[in-house]
Amino acid sequence: MNNEKIDLTNCDREPIHIPGSIQPHGVVLAIAEPSLKILQVSENAAELFGCAAADLLDETLEKLLAPEDVEYLKSQILPKNLEASPRYLPTFRIGSEKREFEVIVHRYEGLLILELEENSISSAVPLEIYASLKSTLSQLEEASNVKEFCRRAAEEVRAFTNFDRVMIYRFAGDASGEVFAESKRDDLEAFLGMHYPAADIPQQARALYIKSWLRFKVDNEAAPVALVPQINPQTGKPLDMSYAVLRSMSPVHTEYLRNMGVRSTMSISIIKDGELWGLVACHHYAAPRYVAHDARMACELLAHFLSLQMSAKEAMEDGEYTLRLNTRHAELVEIMLESEDFAQGLMKEESRFLNWIDADGVALVTGDEINLLGKTPNAEIVRKITGCLTEQVADEIFATDNLADICADAADCKEYAAGLLAMRLSIYAPTYLLWFRPEISQRVNWAGEPTKLTESSEFGERLTPRKSFDLWVEQVGGKSAPWKNCELEASANLRRSIMEIVVRKAEALAKLNAELEHSNIELDSFAYIASHDLKEPLRGIHNFSHFLIEGYADKLEADGQEKLQTLMRLTQRMESLIESLLQYSRIGRTQLTVSEVNLNNLLGETLEMMQTRISETDVEIRLGKNLPTVSGDEVLLREVFTNLITNAVKYNDKPKRWVEVGFVEGEMPTFFVRDNGIGIPEKNYESIFRIFKRLHGREAFGGGVGAGLTITKKIVERHGGQIRIESVPQEGTTFYFTLNMEAQTGKSANEA
Ligand code: ADP
Repeated sequence: MNNEKIDLTNCDREPIHIPGSIQPHGVVLAIAEPSLKILQVSENAAELFGCAAADLLDETLEKLLAPEDVEYLKSQILPKNLEASPRYLPTFRIGSEKREFEVIVHRYEGLLILELEENSISSAVPLEIYASLKSTLSQLEEASNVKEFCRRAAEEVRAFTNFDRVMIYRFAGDASGEVFAESKRDDLEAFLGMHYPAADIPQQARALYIKSWLRFKVDNEAAPVALVPQINPQTGKPLDMSYAVLRSMSPVHTEYLRNMGVRSTMSISIIKDGELWGLVACHHYAAPRYVAHDARMACELLAHFLSLQMSAKEAMEDGEYTLRLNTRHAELVEIMLESEDFAQGLMKEESRFLNWIDADGVALVTGDEINLLGKTPNAEIVRKITGCLTEQVADEIFATDNLADICADAADCKEYAAGLLAMRLSIYAPTYLLWFRPEISQRVNWAGEPTKLTESSEFGERLTPRKSFDLWVEQVGGKSAPWKNCELEASANLRRSIMEIVVRKAEALAKLNAELEHSNIELDSFAYIASHDLKEPLRGIHNFSHFLIEGYADKLEADGQEKLQTLMRLTQRMESLIESLLQYSRIGRTQLTVSEVNLNNLLGETLEMMQTRISETDVEIRLGKNLPTVSGDEVLLREVFTNLITNAVKYNDKPKRWVEVGFVEGEMPTFFVRDNGIGIPEKNYESIFRIFKRLHGREAFGGGVGAGLTITKKIVERHGGQIRIESVPQEGTTFYFTLNMEAQTGKSANEA
């Protein structure tokens, strides 16, 4: 390691695989093959072999080990594939005192690397490893979810090793870490749920963790022992100890552990699908803790088991969640189908709607209407969010764990709405379903002081968990838990169902409309036939009454004559009722005779025909700019103007009456007939369009049958238009109507 001052920003570059030194509790030999000549040794080999380290160089392994061990190595081990694959060997007796050593051997970069660890190091845990491993693995197998799986694994590793604390770290997508499961001595503070920024485990350390599964530092306070020589004579480089467990740790890491009060540490990789999923991380505090080879192997095996099973456990967990999502999906679909529209259905079943997915709040935005359930931003912010979505997002399903990224206005709501899952339901109007997720917990119980407070050292400012946590909050705070793939898939499914329901409802409506139209036509024909057939006997009644009055007047008393007069009047009225009914049914039944109609001329003719009535009532006719030409049925359009102007003149009790006819320009002109007459109470705006409905006594305001407006409305509607009323009682009334024959026939204005 060079002397460049290391802080946490440059430790990504620290060459941790070639530290040039090892931990002092073991001895390392780098050996050439096939000569078995010793090329490098750790300085402490001198003490073991009873000579200067330099003297060991150029010796062969045969000189240092017992002949039977050399023989065993040569015949049983060296022929095996040891490339980047350390192998634990049985105990060797080494040196003049025949001390017992546990041996690990592997090959790397053309060198044989032998690691010796003395067996007598205290606090090795005696174990019936294999028996307990078996029951451990079957127990792990039974865990129903990933968390429980990891918790049990932590327990077991602790049982094997007697470490004070065993944690399972899990890495997030951004390489930050979380203490996902933990087993610890009762008196220690829990680290469970704590987060670390990505920089806490530098990039090259991660790369190394994928290569080599286990790291073990027996004593953080023990000074490392150098290799001699530093440069390997065969490779011309420092010894690459990527796979050596005795490799000494980086000074930065040593400092970090010291700040946490950790004396011994071991970590084993959990690798899922070739990627570093997490770590089994062990801490021991007061004294060094040595873990013998067999226990280490058991832990490594356990981590392998975790690695292999992790995909399956995660898939199982997702599978259960997906199943739950699907069941709730089916329930929601049922409710939506039963309701008039999907939105109404969802809002009716609040809790099912809200709890469909793991979220704390949901917003249903349909055009101008916003419905909120659970913890959500207020309607104003929700409107801003949909605005941002409409502008920035083309996808039908959109998910983010950082809502503020797409909508800065939502930043203040991150506590309960840091993450968003949005489902767009229409491209025409802002129709969205929005689920909100809160910010992931940033509260860790810092009660007590889990660590020493050394926060600045020669290695930089931030080497304690608390500082790490603060940095993590700074970097990734404000985010929600990420949305899982199975959630995105389920959303796409739900969206599809909603769209199907919407289409199905629209089809049902269209069918209903067609049926309605059909029955309207039938009704029109019925009205026509009935009124047509009624006319004849009515004429007979009328003729006979007339005949009675004429021929038998002298035989009847005054009372009888009066009754006959009433009968005549009634038949006349009935005739006009039937006539109106006939006219009304004709408009529904017959084809329109459409042509280009100059409404200005048409209005002129209408007023001319009404001349007598206009001058009789002394009404002022006010005309604005010339009316445009439209396509329509000339006869029927004349009827519209006649009816409206007649009413405007009729329902007026002012000494100075006026009627104004004009239009409001626009993409589609809106025509109006305005008067200063008696006005219409708002409650009657609809009823006056019903056939034979009058608001007055039969003879009041010059009488009438109450069919004019019904006929007018029907004509306007057959021309693709609409009619509406604005009125102030006692002051006057305006009838507005539009005509849109092009839309009605599907013809464009240019073709017309
Ligand atoms: P009628 O005029 O034969 O009664 P309409 O269908 O033309 O039948 O009108 C229905 C009712 O609507 C009228 O009886 C009247 O009460 C009311 N009405 C129609 N036009 C006006 C108007 N311009 N001002 C006030 N009331 C009106």
